[in-house]
Amino acid sequence: MPDPNFMPDPKWDFDFIVIGSGFGGSVTAHRLTEKGYRVAVMEMGRRWTPENLPSTNWLIWRWIWRPKLALRGFFNIEPFRHVVILHGCAVGGGSITYANTLLVPKNLVWDNGSWAGLANWKADMPAHYETAMRMLGVAENCVLGPADHILKRAAEAIGQGETFYRTKVGVFEAAEGEAGGVTHPDPYFGGEGPERTTCIGCGGCMIGCRHNAKNTLDKNYLYLAEKHGARVFPETRVVDVVPLNGKPDGSAGDGSNGYEVRTVKSTAWISTEPRRFTCRGVVFAASALGTMDLLFRLKDRGSLPAVSECLGSRVRTNAESLIGVRVPGSREDLSQGIAIGSGIYIDDHTHIEAVRYPAGADAMGLLATPLTGGRSGKGRILFWLKALAAGLLRHPIRTARAMHPFGFARESLILLCMQALDGHISMRLGRPWFWPFRKTLMSHGHPVPTFIPQANEFAHAVARQIGGTPMSMVTEILFNVPSTAHILGGCAMSGGRASGVVDGRNRLFGYRNAYVCDGSVVAANLGVNPSLTICALTERAMSFMPKAEDNHWDDAPV
Ligand SMILES: Cc1cc2nc3c(=O)[nH]c(=O)nc-3n(C[C@H](O)[C@H](O)[C@H](O)COP(=O)(O)OP(=O)(O)OC[C@H]3O[C@@H](n4cnc5c(N)ncnc54)[C@H](O)[C@@H]3O)c2cc1C
Ligand code: SF4
Repeated sequence: MPDPNFMPDPKWDFDFIVIGSGFGGSVTAHRLTEKGYRVAVMEMGRRWTPENLPSTNWLIWRWIWRPKLALRGFFNIEPFRHVVILHGCAVGGGSITYANTLLVPKNLVWDNGSWAGLANWKADMPAHYETAMRMLGVAENCVLGPADHILKRAAEAIGQGETFYRTKVGVFEAAEGEAGGVTHPDPYFGGEGPERTTCIGCGGCMIGCRHNAKNTLDKNYLYLAEKHGARVFPETRVVDVVPLNGKPDGSAGDGSNGYEVRTVKSTAWISTEPRRFTCRGVVFAASALGTMDLLFRLKDRGSLPAVSECLGSRVRTNAESLIGVRVPGSREDLSQGIAIGSGIYIDDHTHIEAVRYPAGADAMGLLATPLTGGRSGKGRILFWLKALAAGLLRHPIRTARAMHPFGFARESLILLCMQALDGHISMRLGRPWFWPFRKTLMSHGHPVPTFIPQANEFAHAVARQIGGTPMSMVTEILFNVPSTAHILGGCAMSGGRASGVVDGRNRLFGYRNAYVCDGSVVAANLGVNPSLTICALTERAMSFMPKAEDNHWDDAPV
């Protein structure tokens, strides 16, 4: 417990400013308030409640985030040359739109990448995973829908039936066989948390749970942080972070006297309401993409010039592919269940999960098209046209019905495929040829494989089994880029500034009292959904933080 007589120094507006309120940001805010710090959380996205969440993703102005186009939702799609990145943007970060799946990766991830050897990870991490799982209310899914049963049968058909598992999820579920929709007093934090209602298995998790059943961060970590005094500033984008001990010659300081954080209103069109706040320490928790973008701009404009040159390198896409099978006119409602209800391994490296959207939320169907084989590359368009023509000739009605969006969620088994194989790209700030007026993040490096051949084969097998059409994302084929909801890295942990951006305790090289706590520090492909690992790594980083009254404010990487 913090010392109740301790008086914080009023010279700074806050002790810590946390930039971003996602998994890393919410864990940070909660643990810092618990240790007696005055904390502010700056969040670019809006605050969402069951009352303002959309009932369907056709209400794109309440689903997609593009504030300049008056789209003020919580889900962002950002295309790059090498990959299309899907991510969340809200109070609670990606947790508002994510699919609740919280898995511990295999131990071998700690032997790969630039974090290998920085700590005794295999001994340290289990305790932090356990804390994160307790806070996020992780339990085995007991709401299985028709899509999960199809996945199980398909795994059995290829001899991998024993790998089928129910996902571990952050959802408040009733006991198996009991009806959902029942409200209970706080089931997780001994009465300190909010009351909750059991899941009804509507499949709506990725367009926001309107039934108070999904354990989003605003119901656990962030809820408790706010209850203990953290101030959350929604719709507030951080645009600059400047050390307060800049030198008279104009050169930037190292942050040992704190930082000035400058913000604008993220949803404003004309008056952006610029504001300035001071703090003694700063935590970048704006997600892999958000933190890279911000740090690049701060380095570029001279606010934080000492950030490592490794910024933006080793960005990992989790070797992912989104495919599926559509069964036009399906008698079973494949949207029933929770967003990701189960998973299988089709080989040692390839992990597949059964995913769904709620009935009627068919907007993702606009991006779906019949699956195509061939090789990654521009030539794949020809294979696609050939597959499309063959489909239309052989099964004209089924193929045409598979291509129109209406009914997509009810009729589709979406397969999220991930591989724990290493591979990465890099990101840099640059001026695109088609819009050279503003610098923007751009991807570089070798092309990322657009599809996973074993996963495509599996989709064909499932389609044959259930009389459906195998599907993939049209962006994979037309632009030859894969999509990922699990972008990681860019500020990788490492033993030194020459090979990474933060040390093994999330401290930013080159600065004092500055930390990075989000997916950008992850230094290896995890092969499973990453949010639990981001929380556990942040729990670990926060475990090193002294109580407010004991902090000498000179923390820096060794
Ligand atoms: C559709 C979908 C489904 C997913 N399903 C799963 C799943 O089932 N399991 C899983 O583990 N992962 C899932 N993910 C991925 C997961 O959401 C992310 O890995 C996770 O949210 C990353 O956590 P983070 O702390 O790095 O950042 P985030 O949770 O992304 O939070 C960062 C926050 O920072 C804010 N921000 C960015 N820049 C600024 C700025 N300059 N100023 C102020 N605020 C800023 C953003 O608005 C955002 O809210 C899914 C993602 C998507 C898109
Ligand atoms: S399935 Fe429906 S009720 Fe259950 S967590 Fe997801 S959105 Fe909420």
